[in-house]
Amino acid sequence: MHDIAIRRTYAKAEPAEAARAPDASRPRPKRVVLKLGSRTLTAGSSELCEERFVRVAAAVASDPDVEVVIVSSGAVAAGFRALGFGTPPEAVRDRQAAAAVGQTRLMSTWEAAFRDRGRDVAQVLLTNDCLSDRRRYISVRDAFSALLDRGVVPIVNENDTVSVDEIMVGDNDNLAAITAALVDADLLVLLTDVAGVFTSDPRLDPDLEPIPFARSAAELRELCFEKASAESIGGMVTKLEAAERAGSYGIPTVIASGDEAGTIEAVLRGEGVGTYIAPADQPLRARQHWMAVQRGLAGGLVVDDGAVSAIRGRASLLPRGIVEVVGRFRKGDLVSVVDLRGVEQARGIVRFDDRELERIRGLHSRDFEQVLGREVGAAVMRPDRMFIIDEEKGL
Ligand code: GLU
Repeated sequence: MHDIAIRRTYAKAEPAEAARAPDASRPRPKRVVLKLGSRTLTAGSSELCEERFVRVAAAVASDPDVEVVIVSSGAVAAGFRALGFGTPPEAVRDRQAAAAVGQTRLMSTWEAAFRDRGRDVAQVLLTNDCLSDRRRYISVRDAFSALLDRGVVPIVNENDTVSVDEIMVGDNDNLAAITAALVDADLLVLLTDVAGVFTSDPRLDPDLEPIPFARSAAELRELCFEKASAESIGGMVTKLEAAERAGSYGIPTVIASGDEAGTIEAVLRGEGVGTYIAPADQPLRARQHWMAVQRGLAGGLVVDDGAVSAIRGRASLLPRGIVEVVGRFRKGDLVSVVDLRGVEQARGIVRFDDRELERIRGLHSRDFEQVLGREVGAAVMRPDRMFIIDEEKGL
């Protein structure tokens, strides 16, 4: 029926308190990332349900004032049958093959649905490494802007056929959160086969209403655990993870039903359907987001405990706290800051290259300017060009 089950003990999460906050004050969004899972697009069957696509296209086209980017699953679901599988395959190579077949079917279904509404669609296949290089990140962002400026509806999916572990986001809920940051959306909408996040199992109590509002995904997390169905990887756990990620970029999330007609229209009008999860008070800025998603950095700085507490207190990283310089990098590169136990604490834009840092590490500011023979200012990294890793979230 649906892909969550609810823990029996919810004492810690205080759902009543979560539900008390206002839901009527949701702002009307201007740019939305709308994520639809395989189960929504197949209507729980084993094939794409065209009627669902038509309904989404009608809802998106109904409001020309809201720009919508769709993150669409369903490639594997649309492709596995053509390859002779009776159920979605488990093996990576088979899923890659099914996605390759299914992605074209998925896109032609979207294209047909939007054509009737006079809108063009564009296929955007992302992997995590599209975001791991600043130039590529900016270029993908610009491409989205060019499409949205012309009224084209971008349809995003993960590039499953070329994805390997290192560059894979892995589920479309998180891909949607990343996309929301990339396009600077003001709302992330995750549609699923339940009407939102519940305080107890809605299958057992049909009168149950979803929690309308939560201050954070963490507040809701205690309530749910995942029981993902075969065709949908994104259960409630990944939805809350995605909501948390979007929240850290300053973007609120709505989790609502993809099965009920009228939901998308209501969400686009800012009405209180589903569960609304507020963003973090102090969101990451775009540059910090870019820092957060990087992989394979050119180098790292091992720093002492004093430097760790300084940067966590939002002070600059100074040469005297640097114990070791690792790798080759230039001034202006993004490098990692690692503590003495080897745990990454931060990343930031470095103001010296590795050779200079090798010469000045451990020195007080009065000494290192002498060593370098020029006035450079004390900071190796400044707080506004640094991203502090959240130890709990690993982000
Ligand atoms: N990219 C996968 C597909 O299109 C779906 C992944 C997910 O639903 O989270 O089949």
